[in-house]
Amino acid sequence: MNILTKSALGKRKYLLVIMLIIVIAMISTTTSVLAWEPLGNARWGGVNPLYYYINCESPSSTAWSLSASTWNNAGTPAHFTSNVMFYKVYLSAYASAPGGWDGVTYVYAQGLFIQSTVSYLDTCDTDSYPLAKRMSVSGHELGHVLSLNEEISPPNVLMNPGTNIRYGVYGIYAPQQDDINGVNYLY
Ligand SMILES: [Zn+2]
Repeated sequence: MNILTKSALGKRKYLLVIMLIIVIAMISTTTSVLAWEPLGNARWGGVNPLYYYINCESPSSTAWSLSASTWNNAGTPAHFTSNVMFYKVYLSAYASAPGGWDGVTYVYAQGLFIQSTVSYLDTCDTDSYPLAKRMSVSGHELGHVLSLNEEISPPNVLMNPGTNIRYGVYGIYAPQQDDINGVNYLY
């Protein structure tokens, strides 16, 4: 009787240890795979093609166009395609105010589906940026267009909200593996 009880206890401990290991394994997998964050619940119904229209002058227009290419070359299902007639992604620029935000994206969704997005570069800030830094902002905003949220951990990703860190510290102006994982997961 005593031996039976002991072995039953032993088994229970063993199970607990295994469960703990499984839970710990799950937690560590989750953090490494899902570092990127979704922007709300809404997604595009389809992202290939994703029609955009750039309505601003150079150098902002150049940054939007080159950033669309960096995303198109990142190996996700998303493919930004210029289409002045049927665009859902509006990309522009205006002089807002120095400091504060240097890029902004508004997402218009109905239920679970994004209907359209509107993004701006703030020329008050970005006009003094070199091209790669301006692309760091436009590429980040296109990440929001694809329904990615801000991401600060890890910090060396395109979806880091701070341009002084994203570009200033890490020199990032194109999608990184974590950003790409996010879009691949969403679509
Ligand atoms: Zn952002």
